[in-house]
Amino acid sequence: MHFSKLRLTGFKSFVDPTDLIITDGLTGVVGPNGCGKSNLLEALRWVMGENRPSIMRGGGMEDVIFAGAASRPARNFAEVVCHMDNSDRLAPAGFNDADHLEVIRRITRDVGSAYKVNGKDARAKDVQMLFADASTGAHSQALVSQGKITDLINAKPKARRKILEEAAGISGLYQRRHEAELKLKGAETNLARVDDVIEQLA
Ligand code: ATP
Repeated sequence: MHFSKLRLTGFKSFVDPTDLIITDGLTGVVGPNGCGKSNLLEALRWVMGENRPSIMRGGGMEDVIFAGAASRPARNFAEVVCHMDNSDRLAPAGFNDADHLEVIRRITRDVGSAYKVNGKDARAKDVQMLFADASTGAHSQALVSQGKITDLINAKPKARRKILEEAAGISGLYQRRHEAELKLKGAETNLARVDDVIEQLA
């Protein structure tokens, strides 16, 4: 499975629909300062489920919506569509029944974000899990922002372990463990309540 295209609409400086075609091999994005190179990388993080505005260089998530310019009014929504070629059928289980995967994230002012995977509504965590299981995602170490190399060199062993875990394809297990722990806690609370009721009846 590999990324084949990103389509940005109303996302940051990309007000009109813009396609970034990702072909086999190396894709380079070049341009003058401020032309939107980092915005492209952020669009990729965002469609994969990034929820921290600071990582998107904004104060709130709606800051990703085109804010307007002298000649263009602000937009009401931003959308990023991520196309993936799955002809090798290596997509994670549950998403592996088509040669092509399309993930859409759209944010609308005062409404929030919505996701679709191959035309069907999806939850943020389904999308995050899809990419985590594919050994990538919004937090992927493969997305190298400015200053990241210096951070890596200075990183503590625990932070470096995260990189190895992602390379091993087990990042998705953490989210599943967290969900299992929450369910366990809920079950323990219910059991305690049952004990209370039994005690009262005895
Ligand atoms: P550099 O080479 O300096 O790192 P870059 O090519 O990576 O620059 P970006 O940082 O991706 O450029 O883009 C910055 C541009 O995006 C700025 O002109 C900024 O005004 C514009 N921008 C960011 N958010 C929005 C928004 N919500 N609406 C409109 N324009 C935006």
